[in-house]
Amino acid sequence: GEIRIGLGSCCVASGSKEIQQEVENVVNESGLRVNLKHVGCVGMCHQVPLVEIVPNEGEPTLYAKVKPEDVKDIVESHFEAPGLFTKLKNKLIHTVETIQTDRNWDGVQRYEISMREKPVASFLGKQIPIATEYRGIINPLDVDEYIKRSGFTSLKKVLETMSSDEVIEEVKESGIRGRGGAGFPTGLKWSLVKKEKSDTKYIICNGDEGDPGAFMDRMLLESYPYRVIEGMVIAAYAVGIHEGYFYIRAEYPLAVKRIREAIKICKEKNYLGENILGSGFHLNLQIYEGAGAFVCGEESALIASIEGNRGFPRMRPPFPAQSGLWGKPTLVNNTETLAQISYILREGSDGFKGIGTEKSAGTKVFALAGKVARGGLIEVPMGITVKQVIEEIGGGIANGRKFKAVQIGGPSGGCIPAEFADTPIDYESLSEMGAMMGSGGLVVLDDTDCMVDIARYFLSFTQEESCGKCTFCRVGTKRMLDILENITSGKGKQGDIEELEHLAEWTSKGSLCGLGRTAPNPVLSTLKYFREEYEAHINGVC
Ligand code: SF4
Repeated sequence: GEIRIGLGSCCVASGSKEIQQEVENVVNESGLRVNLKHVGCVGMCHQVPLVEIVPNEGEPTLYAKVKPEDVKDIVESHFEAPGLFTKLKNKLIHTVETIQTDRNWDGVQRYEISMREKPVASFLGKQIPIATEYRGIINPLDVDEYIKRSGFTSLKKVLETMSSDEVIEEVKESGIRGRGGAGFPTGLKWSLVKKEKSDTKYIICNGDEGDPGAFMDRMLLESYPYRVIEGMVIAAYAVGIHEGYFYIRAEYPLAVKRIREAIKICKEKNYLGENILGSGFHLNLQIYEGAGAFVCGEESALIASIEGNRGFPRMRPPFPAQSGLWGKPTLVNNTETLAQISYILREGSDGFKGIGTEKSAGTKVFALAGKVARGGLIEVPMGITVKQVIEEIGGGIANGRKFKAVQIGGPSGGCIPAEFADTPIDYESLSEMGAMMGSGGLVVLDDTDCMVDIARYFLSFTQEESCGKCTFCRVGTKRMLDILENITSGKGKQGDIEELEHLAEWTSKGSLCGLGRTAPNPVLSTLKYFREEYEAHINGVC
């Protein structure tokens, strides 16, 4: 049998290390012969710490919110060993029972969960894990297990049977768009860097995640380091790149540690280095730890940061594809985009674009947070509606409150109110609504939330993170924030709303980079759907 313990950062923060220690104690003291396995993030952050018991025969059982004092009972109820007491089959347990079946649905691993007490039945069931394939099953750093579960199959296929042009064509055909926020077609981006003539080109994995409440990149880097590396090697091969960087926030120490270790193991196993799998193709990868400035998620600021300069965005053109790191053509891809590449090459472009919508193919990873009953890290097909995510995956609004709106896309995004809950989550539908995909923050709000205060919160974040280079962004966000603070503290006055709209327009128009251009979005979208809340504050009726 096997005992799996989730050891992602969220799990550890909720006490998984103590559970791991206790499981080890019980197993060692009892003489039980069982495989103890550390696994990555399952995404069920609302249920951690998680312990999954996988017997030699029969279905696995997943225990949630485990406490150290539960551990012995859990182990005793599944295994027999000289040092364990009688089996306590019916004594257990306050948590979740899972039945995992049909892991190969359409080539995609799926879960089906039945519940004992808490309604998490559909939390995983509605999801399609592609970037998060084998979530909660594999040890993030066990390369043999990754290989056993079809890891590096795509890389082998690409190196042995495909030309670089064919790889780019397949990626273009799949319809995948950059998961970092802007949704630029990935295959097109690759071909733009490829066509540049240069002796040296660079690839950068953008793991500089800074949105409040978002942790997609962290989880992918921590839990699927080989998948991201495999995507990066394929991209490098397709474009003709031999030098690459992981740009990861220094505040993500576990992600940095696992990527560092995974790079070392990949070199030993010949998946990285001088002569990858005997193909003659070589790629050298290194890690650069970012200092945590939100603006460094922007490509040109990120590149400046690696060069040792202050993380200032710069005017474009030239684009990084033409002149990026050290003045050389540079391919910058988001972590999640790279984590989906191996699936596309393995299953073919049709397998990927068969999921999602016509213009937004595949899946998207979201950090589901806020007033939802079951928050966590989810991966859903594009085109799923806001309502489905909140009700069927998130279990509805917590504490019996009423759904009011969802903020999608982090501080650069906008809100979608309850009356438009049937909006499909895809690039086009969200921007029509005045929101945006962003990198994948999804904050659910209930009827106790003040939308003016929400706008103030997100603007205070962007204002603080503005690098200050452009006057419109530096001063515009500050002026807008001053007005919002006045309104929320009861000092609003007539004309404030018009002034906000005026400042929002010019901050957006006059800013150089995405941070300034999108900073007014939360204000504009809350004004669009909840103007009466602004007026109520100003008129002193709330
Ligand atoms: Fe800096 Fe804001 Fe200008 Fe971007 S828009 S370069 S964050 S001042």
